[in-house]
Amino acid sequence: MRLGIFGGTFNPIHLGHLLIAEDAAEAFHLDRVVFIPSATPPHKRPRVIAPAPHRMRMVKLAIQGNTRFTSSDIEVRRGGPSYSVETLRHLRAAMPRAEFFFLIGTDSLRELHKWKEAPALVNLCEFICVTRPGERVARCRLRGARVRRLTGHPTDVSSTDIRNRLTHGGTIRYLVPDAVRRYIERCRLYR
Ligand code: ATP
Repeated sequence: MRLGIFGGTFNPIHLGHLLIAEDAAEAFHLDRVVFIPSATPPHKRPRVIAPAPHRMRMVKLAIQGNTRFTSSDIEVRRGGPSYSVETLRHLRAAMPRAEFFFLIGTDSLRELHKWKEAPALVNLCEFICVTRPGERVARCRLRGARVRRLTGHPTDVSSTDIRNRLTHGGTIRYLVPDAVRRYIERCRLYR
């Protein structure tokens, strides 16, 4: 089993995330990609963060119908700061024979050496590095990290932009799956 691990705040999940996951699954022959929303992101503190159950629900709505995609609430249930090393250890214990591929943005890859127990993390998984349009390829300063690059469909979509649009009453149609857009409207998130 080759398992893609996609951690993020998903505040909210958007088409950029979905494209990355689909491209990575195809390029690296992943059997599954698991979307894992973080409880409290240790590296980012956006001012408006939707409660975890809402972010979890939006992930589920976004991935429904894709049999390769699944989600896990392991970080949300654990609560507190979400450290990837703890998540990977948990998954490794549950699936000792699986190979793990951790999807990571260039910004995060550059900072990987500062993550909790980084040297242990590199023994638990390989990394698939995704690049945003215009971003330079990041160098990973962590010794022993196995990093592959994804050349997919770089898209200039971000959760920050989506939240800003919602705050100002702008449209988010086509930036998130329709089911997610309707959920955001119904629950009046990010207003
Ligand atoms: P925010 O704008 O709130 O910082 P985000 O859009 O970066 O959020 P996250 O949930 O933080 O979304 O993303 C999870 C991971 O996906 C991060 O590693 C991030 O760099 C990466 N990512 C998100 N959107 C894109 C995109 N359009 N292209 C490439 N990578 C992306």
